[in-house]
Amino acid sequence: MITKLLFGTNNLHKLEEIQAIVGNTYTVSSLRDLGIDMDVEETEDTLHGNAELKAKAYFKVSGVPTFADDTGLEVAALDGRPGVYSARYAGEHASYSDNVEKLLQEMEGKENRDACFRTVIAFYDGEQTRFFEGEIKGKITIEPRGQAGFGYDPVFQPEESEETFAEMPPEYKNDISHRGRAIRKFAHYLMQLSS
Ligand code: IMP
Repeated sequence: MITKLLFGTNNLHKLEEIQAIVGNTYTVSSLRDLGIDMDVEETEDTLHGNAELKAKAYFKVSGVPTFADDTGLEVAALDGRPGVYSARYAGEHASYSDNVEKLLQEMEGKENRDACFRTVIAFYDGEQTRFFEGEIKGKITIEPRGQAGFGYDPVFQPEESEETFAEMPPEYKNDISHRGRAIRKFAHYLMQLSS
């Protein structure tokens, strides 16, 4: 049974979110935990492509079954942008707040605020890649609200919620979020493997 996994990220927010979901059943290491100091450039133009690229590259250096994720925020009034380019929306080394600012500028005066967060997880065990996807629909707010989370959380208000992701407790975000949904599908798959 697989109990040790590498998550191809150094994003502590994501690591905490995932560890909270898979609990004690799996030990999830980050790149830093395994002393891997290697950046994989996201050169593909799809979330699936980038997630697989990262999972395979980090498997190659670690030999540990590896998963990696790629997330995009797809905004209807912007024809699906920033999508796969969400991290670099405001430029190559854009900060979270640069990206949020650019998004709000582009959304100025737009009536349709519909958006969707999508996460694709690729899991590579050394032989094959499997994909797990999660999404959540919502709206882009007029102004940032809340202090929790990261990235676009302060401007994303999920459907059927009065709060943005950044206003809600992290456990609640994990319950409903794109990544939470994708990771639960992945966790379900891992449990089946071991039964
Ligand atoms: P990544 O490529 O999955 O790291 O994410 C692409 C972009 O989406 C980055 O700018 C992240 O900040 C943002 N992002 C990813 N996941 C979330 C989330 O759960 N909430 C808000 N922003 C996110």
